[in-house]
Amino acid sequence: MSEYGEPLDVLHRVFGYTGFRGLQEEVVRHAVAGGSGLVLMPTGGGKSLCFQIPALCRPGLGVVVSPLIALMEDQVAALRQQDIKAAALHSELPPDEARAVWRDLDSGELKLLYVSPERLTLDSTLARLDEMRVALFAIDEAHCVSQWGHHFRPEYRALPVLAQRFPRVPRLALTATADPRTVTDIQRQLGLEDSPLFRASFDRPNIAISAQPRDHERGQLRRFIKTASDGTGAGLIYCGTRRKAEQTADWLKQDGYDSLVFHAGLEPSAKREAHRRFARGDAVVMAATIAFGMGIDRPDVRYVAHTDLPRSPESWYQEIGRAGRDGLPAQAQLLYGAGDIALARHRIMESGASDEQKRVERQRLEAMVGIAEASTCRRQILLRCFGEDAPEPCGACDICLTPPRLFDGTVAAQKMLSAVLRTGRRFGLGHVVDVLLGKATQKVTQFGHDQLPTFGVGRDLTEAAWRGVARQLVAQGALDVAVENHGELVPTDAARPILKGEQPVMLREELVTQPARGSLRAR
Ligand code: ADP
Ligand code: ZN
Repeated sequence: MSEYGEPLDVLHRVFGYTGFRGLQEEVVRHAVAGGSGLVLMPTGGGKSLCFQIPALCRPGLGVVVSPLIALMEDQVAALRQQDIKAAALHSELPPDEARAVWRDLDSGELKLLYVSPERLTLDSTLARLDEMRVALFAIDEAHCVSQWGHHFRPEYRALPVLAQRFPRVPRLALTATADPRTVTDIQRQLGLEDSPLFRASFDRPNIAISAQPRDHERGQLRRFIKTASDGTGAGLIYCGTRRKAEQTADWLKQDGYDSLVFHAGLEPSAKREAHRRFARGDAVVMAATIAFGMGIDRPDVRYVAHTDLPRSPESWYQEIGRAGRDGLPAQAQLLYGAGDIALARHRIMESGASDEQKRVERQRLEAMVGIAEASTCRRQILLRCFGEDAPEPCGACDICLTPPRLFDGTVAAQKMLSAVLRTGRRFGLGHVVDVLLGKATQKVTQFGHDQLPTFGVGRDLTEAAWRGVARQLVAQGALDVAVENHGELVPTDAARPILKGEQPVMLREELVTQPARGSLRAR
């Protein structure tokens, strides 16, 4: 043991907290005993203590990999306030300060070193660490190692060297991204396949969630703000474009609200001012693009609205998660409309990303559409995106409170699933729909799919309706989109009882039989 003592003691004495939260204790015990692992906790869940305490309790230096200089500096400053000897090492540090850090390291003065990945994986750095006793490696924001995420950082790609070069030093990876694909990728890249996964629940039960097709945006927002605002707490309206953020702030002001605007195009001084007023004002409402994110720590954000479809369940979750940090009731409302998806798809296709990345983005977008068009508990679907199975409907989302009109779509579901199977699970949605509609495209004839018994069995529905059926099957977990390969549709285990007629499928009427005005239309 080091000079700092037992974990619980360190928690009380050094950090001044009365007890561990959630999974913290389990993670800390495991790491103090020398174990490696991956920790999934939502933002604000308390990941830092999970590695800070073991670093203090174990002999040697705790090395923390962090992708952002600002984040490192913040944490180091906070630790120094608690009299813990910590320092940051990164590319923006002047050489003389970097030398001073190394001096403290060599003399064994430091307990925690925050370091950027590119600095850590330099040969010279690794060689010096070889000579030292390292208590543990913490890899913060570990999703940066995964190419599946929105946040891939090439510098993280060199991190596998840690497992090879320091096999006996525990590695603790931490992230708030819990989608199953990213998780597996992190485990593989960081050599954590055989180490435990600590997964905290991502549910935020105090946030009531709802979604509706956008038909008269201002009226819908007005009504939402009226019911969701408590007169003192803040509100957030996320808009798809800068222009819309400006317009929204304008009409809210005309309505008499204390409205603010934020987007990446503002001058730095205007940004600071917006942040300041958002942090302090009573009943302020911020209209912003997703550029407004970092550093919002106001606990009493009472509501978050989206005027446009977010690009992924992860983004939506993160944005609505800014509400209700005080644990009191908060509300989230999503508006979505015709064109949102078409535009989002277009943006993905036009982006400079690799084909693989585009497929991943597409799949995330489709998952988001699945949430928007949910016919069963929205929270269950959202949590499923994070690999979490909520056994019961939440009873608090709009779908649970006001169930939509459903019809028995078992036959349509069977046609779709059997078309997917008959074509060999090797094709994307467009091709499968062509087969259902009996379109003898070149691809259809090339593969002989015009000879299949399912060819043309879906002429009773439109192309848009079939896309609606597919999205709902994805939302209900009967179909998967295999983004690792070519975005082909793959039936899951839940498809079998549907095909055998043992499991009826209920679909939302307005999304399939007569796509409502303002609802999602596929191209
Ligand atoms: P994350 O990195 O998961 O987003 P942090 O580690 O920054 O979360 O912790 C979020 C907040 O919760 C911080 O203000 C931290 O001081 C506080 N916190 C963490 N653990 C505890 C605890 N056991 N008791 C009280 N407060 C805690
Ligand atoms: Zn629900």
